[in-house]
Amino acid sequence: HADAAMHEAKQNRTGFCRFQGENRQDAAARLSLLGDLRRAVEDPEQLTLHYQPKVAVDTGELVGVEALARWHHPERGPVSPADFIPVLEVTNLMHRFTERVLTMALRQARTWLDAGHRVPIAVNVSARSLLDPQFPDRVATLLADSGVPGDLLSIEVTEYALMSDPDTAIRALHRLRESGVKASIDDYGTGYSSMTYLKLLPIAELKIDRSFVLDMADDNSSRALVASTVELGHRLGLTVVAEGVEDEAAVQALREIGCDTAQGYHFAKPMTAEALTTQLRETLQVA
Ligand code: C2E
Ligand code: MG
Ligand code: MG
Ligand code: MG
Repeated sequence: HADAAMHEAKQNRTGFCRFQGENRQDAAARLSLLGDLRRAVEDPEQLTLHYQPKVAVDTGELVGVEALARWHHPERGPVSPADFIPVLEVTNLMHRFTERVLTMALRQARTWLDAGHRVPIAVNVSARSLLDPQFPDRVATLLADSGVPGDLLSIEVTEYALMSDPDTAIRALHRLRESGVKASIDDYGTGYSSMTYLKLLPIAELKIDRSFVLDMADDNSSRALVASTVELGHRLGLTVVAEGVEDEAAVQALREIGCDTAQGYHFAKPMTAEALTTQLRETLQVA
C-alpha cells in the first residue's frame, strides 16, 4: 500500500529508502521495476488511464469519472497500481508520473469537451506529489496548457497524505482551489483523520472506503458507519461518495441513507476512454 510504504520509508532516518524486512532479491526486483517504470512513464503504449464512472445514487446519472493508471509492461503484461504506486511513492519519479497522469487526464477532458461532453475528472494524487511545494503551480500550468476549466478537475488524496503534514497539505489544497480544483478524501475511514483537521481541510468530498460499502447490506456496523459518515459529510457541506458498490442491495442501502454518489462494478468497471465515450453517446447523461 502506497501510504504504508511511504510511512516506512519516512521512518527510516538513514536517508535510504529501504523497506523493513526487505531482502536482497526484493531490493533487486524493486530496482528493476523502477528502471522499467522510468521508461514506462514516458511511453504512451505502456502507461494509460482507465476511467470509472461516478454516478448519482438517486438518478444513476454520470456525475464524473475517476482516472485510474494502468501499466502494461512489455514482458510482464498488466501490473496493478497497487504494486507500482508504492514503488513510485518512495522516489522522485512520482512527480513525473503524476504530471503524466494529469496531462493525459486533461487531454481526455479536452477531447470530451470538444465533443460536447462536460465530464469532471478526478485524479489520484499521492502524498509525495501533494506535498511537493511546486505541485499547485504545476497543476495551474497544466490546466492553462490544456484549456480545461479548473472546475472540471479534482484530486483524490488519502487521509495519510493529508495527515502526514497537514499544514503543507492545507496550503496546497487552498492554492489548488484558486485554480478551481477541488479535493476529495479517498478511502475515507481507513486512515486517521482527526475531527480537528476535517474541520480545517479545504475539501469538497468524502469517498467512503469500499471495505465499509462492500458488506453494508448484511453488516449493521458497516451500515451504521456509512450512515454516520454521510451525515457527518453533509453537515460539513461535503459531497459523499461510496466506492466499491457491487450490487443492487448496496445501492438500495445508499439510497435509504441519502448518500450522494456511488462508484463500483455494479455501475461500471474502469474502462478505456473509447469505451466511456461510447457510453456517453449512448446511455450516460452527464448530470
Ligand atoms: P482508489 O483510488 O481507491 O481506486 C479505487 C480502486 O478500486 C481501483 O483499483 C478500482 O478499479 C477499484 N474498484 C472500483 N470499483 C470497485 C468495486 O466495485 N469493487 C472492487 N473490489 N474494486 C473496485 P485500481 O485501479 O487497481 O487502483 C488501486 C489504487 O491505486 C487506487 O485506489 C489508487 O489509490 C491507486 N492509483 C491508481 N491510479 C493512480 C494514479 O494515477 N496516481 C496515484 N497516486 N495512485 C493511483
Ligand atoms: Mg481514488
Ligand atoms: Mg478510493
Ligand atoms: Mg479504496
